[in-house]
Amino acid sequence: MIALWKWYRSKSFMLKITVGFTLGLIFGLTFGPANTFFAPLGIIFMNLLKMIVIPLIFLSLIVAVNHSNPTELGRIGVKVFPIYVITTGISVAIGIIIASIMRPGKGVSTDSEIVISVPERQGFLDTLINMIPTNIIKSFADGNILSVVFMAVIAGLAILYMRHAQDNKQQDMGYTLMKFTEAANEATLKILNGILEYAPIGVFGITAATIGNQGIDTVIALAKFVITSYIGVILLLVVFYPIILKLWGGKVIQFYKDIKESMLTAFVTCSSLGTLPITLRAAKKAGIDERIANLTLPIGATVNMNGTALRLGVAVIFASEIIGMPLSMVELVSIVVIGTLAAVGTAGVPGAGLIAMSAVFAQAGLPIEIVGLTAGINVLVDMVFTLGNVTGDLVAAKMVDLSERRHEAKNIKIQIDPQA
Ligand code: ASP
Repeated sequence: MIALWKWYRSKSFMLKITVGFTLGLIFGLTFGPANTFFAPLGIIFMNLLKMIVIPLIFLSLIVAVNHSNPTELGRIGVKVFPIYVITTGISVAIGIIIASIMRPGKGVSTDSEIVISVPERQGFLDTLINMIPTNIIKSFADGNILSVVFMAVIAGLAILYMRHAQDNKQQDMGYTLMKFTEAANEATLKILNGILEYAPIGVFGITAATIGNQGIDTVIALAKFVITSYIGVILLLVVFYPIILKLWGGKVIQFYKDIKESMLTAFVTCSSLGTLPITLRAAKKAGIDERIANLTLPIGATVNMNGTALRLGVAVIFASEIIGMPLSMVELVSIVVIGTLAAVGTAGVPGAGLIAMSAVFAQAGLPIEIVGLTAGINVLVDMVFTLGNVTGDLVAAKMVDLSERRHEAKNIKIQIDPQA
């Protein structure tokens, strides 16, 4: 038994989750719905990830804020938000273009039996206002990530200012709090390492149950929608992201090699937030400064949704084609704007894209029933969109990292040679 455990531990994480995924796929395709038997294995994995994500975000953000200085914090924020907004907007546009070429709505009829209950969705401004928690404990309990991010930044800044206070007592207390947070963060990372040992089994459970339960009939009816979605995200991955990474001076192939575990986990779990612990680890591997990763990735997992944005572009064209209502250029541009805002307001959890879709449809005057039509195959497309989302978060973090490194190099040069 011990020998087996040692053998298991000696194998690479990537190899183990790939084996879990492949076995899940084989079981799913062979035994169909009977695979529900394995679903609990996947639920355990998702629960473990959700359990660790809030403490991880809270503690690692406080540590990250303390390892930076206020100017640096501001600079990182100013760099990353425009990247989020611009890449999201471009992703909606890519979705529109690819769907206009592929025409996924051709031949699809609306008389679908599937109905979806659409939960109420917050507006963009509400999302911002609700970041400020009225009840701290409730925010943690509800897993409201933006509130947790907000509290962590405030707590981090308070500790930072205490450590730099004139008063010795304040300084002492500041250092004690900082040490405690760093130690708690280390403990969280140890727990995460334990969870990751279980990941391959969880991945097997999720894949077998998902693939096994996906009705083949719905898949065939909406095959073009699924294929268009996959082609769109592949374009993001092999054209759009590499171009911007190259423009910022990054090494594309190496970057993808470093983040592949996070990409596969995103694909399997359909959750940017659930994948976050693994995304943070991947960022380290990709050489992204820990402060930048810890500051940007938790926010990115909630607000930066390039895959979801692409879905909105594809879905709008899909719907307009089904109902035979071509959209004008002005309408398309306004959909890029609405889609960007809706993607920002989408939570990084499975199925959230359907809610964003309903919001955009409501604003664009398209029938909500078409959202229901795609609900049957949502898991299949959610997988690839989440992959686009998580990769986009890491790309943005890498871009900020590369730009910060250039900034530092320039500063060193100025110090050595003030004339430079
Ligand atoms: N599942 C996606 C994510 O977690 C969000 C979506 O449904 O589009 O990133």
